[in-house]
Amino acid sequence: MKWVIFTDLDGTLLDHQTYSFEPAREALKLVKERGIPLCIVTSKTRAEVEEYRRVLDNRDPFIVENGGALFVPSTYFPFPFPYSRQEDGYKVIEFGRSHRVLLDELLKALEDSWSGIRPFSTLSEEEIVRLTGVKPHQVHLMKERGYDEPFLFEGEGVEGLIARFEARGLKVVKGGRFYHLMGNHDKGKAVRRLIDLFRGMDPGIKTIAIGDSENDLSMLKVVDLPVLVRRWDGSYAATRIDGRDPILARGAGPEGWSEAIFRILGR
Ligand SMILES: [Mg+2]
Repeated sequence: MKWVIFTDLDGTLLDHQTYSFEPAREALKLVKERGIPLCIVTSKTRAEVEEYRRVLDNRDPFIVENGGALFVPSTYFPFPFPYSRQEDGYKVIEFGRSHRVLLDELLKALEDSWSGIRPFSTLSEEEIVRLTGVKPHQVHLMKERGYDEPFLFEGEGVEGLIARFEARGLKVVKGGRFYHLMGNHDKGKAVRRLIDLFRGMDPGIKTIAIGDSENDLSMLKVVDLPVLVRRWDGSYAATRIDGRDPILARGAGPEGWSEAIFRILGR
């Protein structure tokens, strides 16, 4: 069987608390030995993903910012395909609205009397460190967003603001600390495009996707074998995927990741 794996990072391959993938080390080794492509699909930015690809010695295509864009190393697929732009050795397929458009929309809303809006791009480094707990030197990685502008909202009536953006073909997702304004993309749309590219190379491939959260469900729907690991509180984000039974790993995060990979690939 020729497999391709799509994996979320935070809370899935990486531990929710420590960001470590140590418990999955043996399973990662097996994936590499078998020559199985391992494609990262995450809400993180390209700059953040590239750090993990270096540590994992990973050369496969990856998807950033919840499906905002797909980065394919330029010589990865031996046939031509449409892409949005070429940059730094990648062919980039964009699904999201550009960050510039999103920031403009926020600033326009701010002018139109939504005075409680504070776009992430307008926050100082000190404020970001205080709000998120990241180290000062990591702030610039967070700021390199292409397809999503986080914002704070102070005051009443955020529902009206969300409706305004939806009427303009955008969507707002509530994260842990910020609201996120983005285009109408998700992980599933980007993964489907990447699967088509792999099928162009080998029509017989079988696909696995592993995730832990609601924002992973769209990609779990478009693969042959959906896998959910437990969240840090012990729960699962879902127990059915479009009428199918996903593989539910007993472990949380990288423990569950490892268990599922050994179960599917055998030892
Ligand atoms: Mg996650």
